[in-house]
Amino acid sequence: MLKIKMTTPIVEMDGDEMTRIIWQGIKDILIAPFVELKSEYYDLGLKNRDMTDDQVTVDSANAIKKYGVGVKCATITPNAQRMTEYDLKKMWKSPNGTIRAILDGTVFRAPIMVDGITPYVPTWTSPITIARHAYGDIYKDVEGYVKKGGKCTMVIEDEDGKREIEVFDYSKTGGVALSMHNTDASISSFARSCFNYALSVKQDLWFATKDTISKTYDHRFKDIFNEIYQSEYEKAFKEAGIEYFYTLIDDAVARVVRSSGGMIWACKNYDGDVMSDMVATAFGSLAMMTSVLVSPDGNYEYEAAHGTVTRHYYRHLKGETTSTNPVATIYAWSGALRKRGELDGNKELAEFADKLERATIATIESGYMTKDLASLFKKDGVKVVELSTEEFLKKIQGNMVHALD
Ligand code: NAP
Ligand code: MG
Repeated sequence: MLKIKMTTPIVEMDGDEMTRIIWQGIKDILIAPFVELKSEYYDLGLKNRDMTDDQVTVDSANAIKKYGVGVKCATITPNAQRMTEYDLKKMWKSPNGTIRAILDGTVFRAPIMVDGITPYVPTWTSPITIARHAYGDIYKDVEGYVKKGGKCTMVIEDEDGKREIEVFDYSKTGGVALSMHNTDASISSFARSCFNYALSVKQDLWFATKDTISKTYDHRFKDIFNEIYQSEYEKAFKEAGIEYFYTLIDDAVARVVRSSGGMIWACKNYDGDVMSDMVATAFGSLAMMTSVLVSPDGNYEYEAAHGTVTRHYYRHLKGETTSTNPVATIYAWSGALRKRGELDGNKELAEFADKLERATIATIESGYMTKDLASLFKKDGVKVVELSTEEFLKKIQGNMVHALD
């Protein structure tokens, strides 16, 4: 078979643990036989991030700015335990946080729905897409511990002069303090990405913050969304027959659970981090959630929404065969290759991505899947066969060969 050629590279960001093994498996079994892959490779595995003082992460984000499309494997965000496990020089920041801070933009996360897997919330008949703001807030905060007797103040200096706001007086007890920021520019581009995405898929857009409590910070998000909606999008939304709806975050959570899905739920950075795991799990599995970062200047970074699946990796190191679900990582690759195809006018490459996704879904719907899905899957007349990760990838490969015939 003649392999599909690529003209421009995609930025490939390798990662850690179980997902690093899955990464290689997908390349060997599902991509290399069909595509002459052109990629610029960055090793974001924790060892190499430590060795390069995390410069490799910054370089990979800049490469996405150059080429427009990247695909990223899940990576370890080090904590105290990882410091000893990997003998690190420093507790490096989350690579996703670093990349998002460089690219800015919004992360869209949508569940991959399969016939045979019913969401835990039975009313959710359509997917819920989470649009997560990818810049600032606690992911770019500064924090400190203040000893008993100390004080923490915030100093703001701008054209109105210098003001000092007391955060807390720790005279009776020591404690923690945190300062975080966001910018009008980033919130505005978040809003526009959400409005544009809603129009492109013709779905309602919901947005929520805690503006009643956070009267300046969260309120700013609410105001910017409202202003941009009214001045730039209201007419187009009416014409498309869709709605923009703002409410408080707690009200939004309650309404989402009662909804039938089919909307885009725009979330501030932290809300999106937490809620996308909840939504993904309720739709079946964390491993069935796609994730793409869309930057305001049109760069795309595809990844899986889950982590490096550490528990499975430790079993793998002991020589056990694992049944880790590679679907979200396959979709990261198909998403990146499809976007590359679209941007380069490479129809064959875009069609390959569609076929890869169809073969993946068809494999599951015919009863072949990893352990996490096997307990959820129920379809009349279909017998469930639980496969290891590698067997599952090979089964998909078999279905690909049929699809490409
Ligand atoms: P995780 O890797 O998402 O795994 C949590 C649990 O969810 C797993 O133990 C497994 O449950 C299940 N799971 C997740 N993905 C799965 C898959 N593909 N197939 C089957 N089961 C899956 O989260 P974590 O254990 O909290 O984090 C591990 C590491 O990942 C951490 O070092 C963290 O920093 C990193 N992380 C990275 C990213 C990213 O790069 N985007 C995101 C989140 C976390 P069972 O064990 O019950 O089977
Ligand atoms: Mg999360």
